[in-house]
Amino acid sequence: MKVKKGDNVLIIAGKDKGRTAKIIKAIPKELKVLVEGINLKKKHVRPKREGEKGQVVDIPAAMDVSNIKIICPKCGKATRVGYKTEGEIKNRICKKCKQII
Ligand SMILES: [Zn+2]
Repeated sequence: MKVKKGDNVLIIAGKDKGRTAKIIKAIPKELKVLVEGINLKKKHVRPKREGEKGQVVDIPAAMDVSNIKIICPKCGKATRVGYKTEGEIKNRICKKCKQII
């Protein structure tokens, strides 16, 4: 998977289209990511103790990596990721500015 935790991404599909946010979790097995504040779903939380009220909280639901585009930290543009190998090391590069990201 070309994105990882901590990457800033642009949402290109769905109800949060056009927003930018940070990946808080990558799930490479399912090609999905959790993005901070994006694709929120309501979740009911049970009260932990008797007498306490249950709560409804918004938590991000996993979304498909095809719905996001990485934002290059070097040039600030939404871009695609390429790879460049130097010896044993495989670096991610921005396809727009060609810098290692
Ligand atoms: Zn760039």
